[in-house]
Amino acid sequence: SHSSPFLHPGAVAKTDRLSIVHLKRDLQAPTILKDHDEDDEGYSEGKVVNTRFGSFPHITLIGLPWGAQVRASKVDTGSRGRRGQKQEKKQPQEKKRKRDDADSAEHPNKRRDSENGDVAISTPAEGKEEKEAETAASGFIHLLPPTPENWTSSLPHRTQVVYTPDYSYILHRIRARPGSSIIEAGAGSGSFTHASARAVFHGYPREADVNGTSQEEKLGKVWSFEFHELRHQKLGEEIKEHGLDGVVQITHRDVCEDGFLVEEQSPKADAIFLDLPAPWLALPHLTRSSPPIPSHGTSEAGTPAANGTTEAPTTPFLSALNPTKPVHLCTFSPCIEQVQRTISAMRKLGWVDIEMVELSQKRFEVRRERIGIDNGAQRGLQTTPASVDEALARLIEVEGTFKTFHETGEKVEGKKDKVNPNNREKILESLVERKVYKEGNLVHRCEPEIKTHTSYLVFAVLPQEWSAEDEEKARAKWVVKI
Ligand code: SAM
Repeated sequence: SHSSPFLHPGAVAKTDRLSIVHLKRDLQAPTILKDHDEDDEGYSEGKVVNTRFGSFPHITLIGLPWGAQVRASKVDTGSRGRRGQKQEKKQPQEKKRKRDDADSAEHPNKRRDSENGDVAISTPAEGKEEKEAETAASGFIHLLPPTPENWTSSLPHRTQVVYTPDYSYILHRIRARPGSSIIEAGAGSGSFTHASARAVFHGYPREADVNGTSQEEKLGKVWSFEFHELRHQKLGEEIKEHGLDGVVQITHRDVCEDGFLVEEQSPKADAIFLDLPAPWLALPHLTRSSPPIPSHGTSEAGTPAANGTTEAPTTPFLSALNPTKPVHLCTFSPCIEQVQRTISAMRKLGWVDIEMVELSQKRFEVRRERIGIDNGAQRGLQTTPASVDEALARLIEVEGTFKTFHETGEKVEGKKDKVNPNNREKILESLVERKVYKEGNLVHRCEPEIKTHTSYLVFAVLPQEWSAEDEEKARAKWVVKI
């Protein structure tokens, strides 16, 4: 069937379908929700997502609307503890980003202010309920429908993957659209596979077949190739579990050796994406007419074999490309030397509009410098009573300036008041408990360039072939139309 939570998530989380347990930014646990424990390990609450923010029995998640915030289970987890903490097979992958720690899950009473990215903290009264939940377990999650984007950031990595900024641009440039036929090699961990499946999906079969094209062509398809046996098998399982087997066909194949026909059928590709170490070796299989494939895979694409001859084809040539359209191609290579060899092969094989692009995505980290007691203590400086007083004085100064500004609209220089000994204790206490802190200047910094390099994208187009006969036919149609 063509039912997939990626394509039609519906309004609520359902049994046996993939959902994304979102713990915090860059930390998500993809989970297929089960209403019973198949492994039958005797847990009364059935299958459970165990995270460091608490335990979430599947049965408490099934039926919840997407986007729901769910508190950790208050169920006694003693039995699980004794049994050695039964864990979900797929552990969430944590990316080590310091700024994650400013996100929600660890601190149930923190929320992110979407306007300015600042973290706001609820008042003790508002936070009471959360505090209780925190004591019983440790936090909450959000339940999200799967999308190619959150799958990319949570999938089990078997290889390097193509990330969202790259694949969004690639899919746009190769003109992937509902109904397209895309060739993808190698499939790797299936990040690009999921994004391209969504891009080409054309809805479920419809009764009216207005253009006379077959339903299969209209549905759009990803022809995916992977030569690593285990990766091929794992991705096949995932595609099936995710209900994408009607849209994605995965083949176990070395495409540089054996090309792109599947069971002697042509994918009739409109678009191609090659994420391979040597894309120039695959290009001779992506031609419109019989390719000049060298008899030994070692020589350059398009170069006759050492003895000056090419092997005679044993079967009549069938192109993997759509004969009725220009075909759009993208290759993805981390090194410039790979790009050079790829472009050289492209030129020999008639590809045009060759262009290389590098996408450089930078994360800007914007935050307010904390002032007050953290200025010293958090950076490991020794805090003496004098330095604490100094910090508190600055705090009061800023507070006073803010107050005047908000009350009168005037910016006034604050005075360095002496800290009232009674207040000192109170302020110190709240700072230690981190209920209150004052914020300083807004500062930003960005990731260094070297960290943002993923790959070079080479785009090219192979024009449609146009024979004298085609011209005749086109003219005939044209004349009749007038
Ligand atoms: N695009 C994938 C993703 O987004 O998850 C990642 C692809 S990974 C970087 C490259 C994959 O190409 C590897 O899994 C490798 O096994 C496969 N591969 C390399 N050479 C191949 C070939 N000649 N035929 C088929 N697959 C190949």
